[in-house]
Amino acid sequence: MHTIEQLDDGRAVYLNGQRVKVSEIPIFRKTLALNNQYYDLQKTHPEVHTYQENSRTYDIAFKVPRTIEDLRQKHQAYQEIAQSNNGMLGRTPDFLDTGMAILAERSAFLGHNEYTDFGENAKHYAEWIKENDLFISHALQNPQLDRQKAINGIPSGYAGVHVLERTDKGIVVSGAKMVNTMAPIADDLLVFNPPELLLEKGDTSYAVAFATPLNTPGVKVICRKLLDHPGYTEDDYPLSNALDEIDAYIVFDHAFIPWNKVFVENDVEMSNRFFIESGMFIHTSHQDEVRGITKLEFATSLAIRTAHVLGLDGFLGVQEKLGRLTANLELIKGTITRSEEEGHLDEFGIYTPSQQALLAVRSTLPEYFEAALKAAQHFAAGSMVGVPGFAEFDGENGPILEQALTTDLAEAKDRSKLLNLVFDLTTAGFGQRQLMYEYYHGGDPMRIRSMHYHDEDLSAGNAMLDKLLKR
Ligand SMILES: Cc1cc2nc3c(=O)[nH]c(=O)nc-3n(C[C@H](O)[C@H](O)[C@H](O)COP(=O)(O)OP(=O)(O)OC[C@H]3O[C@@H](n4cnc5c(N)ncnc54)[C@H](O)[C@@H]3O)c2cc1C
Repeated sequence: MHTIEQLDDGRAVYLNGQRVKVSEIPIFRKTLALNNQYYDLQKTHPEVHTYQENSRTYDIAFKVPRTIEDLRQKHQAYQEIAQSNNGMLGRTPDFLDTGMAILAERSAFLGHNEYTDFGENAKHYAEWIKENDLFISHALQNPQLDRQKAINGIPSGYAGVHVLERTDKGIVVSGAKMVNTMAPIADDLLVFNPPELLLEKGDTSYAVAFATPLNTPGVKVICRKLLDHPGYTEDDYPLSNALDEIDAYIVFDHAFIPWNKVFVENDVEMSNRFFIESGMFIHTSHQDEVRGITKLEFATSLAIRTAHVLGLDGFLGVQEKLGRLTANLELIKGTITRSEEEGHLDEFGIYTPSQQALLAVRSTLPEYFEAALKAAQHFAAGSMVGVPGFAEFDGENGPILEQALTTDLAEAKDRSKLLNLVFDLTTAGFGQRQLMYEYYHGGDPMRIRSMHYHDEDLSAGNAMLDKLLKR
């Protein structure tokens, strides 16, 4: 676990045109404190969050699951971490840690070149992260400059990250990655490509995967605009003034990466195999979907609470809407359980959840989350946009507001805070970013559904069809 001051380690973080010290940005400080719940839970709930290996204690995320019980314990830990931030932090350390556990076991396929053994590098990197319980952020997606072109066919040089030079010491890289959530407050950065890297004319320089500390010379973290509201309190903005997951654009300008941190180099086939065949995709998906349910549960509960506090939940039509939300939640919970129950032991003896079940969640959960937001938004409607700033309660209008906004169902301040929460999650920039996160953080939903359709086992359905259609 690091403190915010330790992140002032020379890393080049930019915000609103200025190079900044991470410790000077209040919302970074608050977000780090929430992210550090991952470490705190190891102390406060060790029976779920830790395990022993070779007489040492590690976070449970690093455990290689060998049985369904292992996966269930990891599920519980992911859920408790997500509950500590209401599911609003997608990239807490457990997300990539669980991937590291699997990478260490499966990395041999990465092979070697004349300078280094990529499989050994990945294994040692994953073990180093585990031994030091570091927090990694990942940059996978290449900038969306022109998706119809191969990335080396785009002249800017920033359509991806590419190797400029290779020596017996390592590689020098330049270029960019599109979105890197949590980069300003992470310890280390893992860079690789999505599985369908499009290159042309024999240029393999973009086909790389490597890791690097955030303070490597030549690495720049350029943050998007912040979503908090200085001058207002967390009563006004209960979520956006408490955390911001801070997405950033990452630039590499002649950054040197030593060979021992390189996992793929000049190899398109390996670049395309890296995420899936390392096992990182499926195991990080398990963490990710458990976090997703936690967020869906929060949003569903918020819609129900809003309907209640506004005196709407006695109406049958409202109950029907709420019933849809609770049914959606049950379906998602059931599918995650199915992913665990339908798991299998892979060739390394790693108990692996069902990818079809997890991708079903990934393809569906964003719509269910949006439905919960819409329900809360429509219940709160005009009343949430009419909530005065909380400071009014302490001014000359305080007594009027206390009287006017109190109902049999809620005191004025409690009611206002609830409505502010609905506004923050459904209508303000924070909520819109959260919705976009659910739709896009795990890849383009169009491709996820296409992949799901291709992989579905329909042998029983086809057998029925064949029987019926046979003459
Ligand atoms: C809030 C947020 C946080 C994120 N955090 C991270 C992170 O930490 N690390 C990281 O690496 N990435 C991150 N991502 C990026 C994420 O990986 C990508 O957004 C995701 O993979 C989709 O890629 P894209 O945005 O480039 O969309 P694209 O794949 O380019 O698609 C954009 C749109 O174009 C359409 N489209 C694209 N190609 C075609 C085609 N051939 N035919 C028809 N339509 C097409 C898609 O359907 C989609 O609607 C984050 C994204 C968001 C929104």
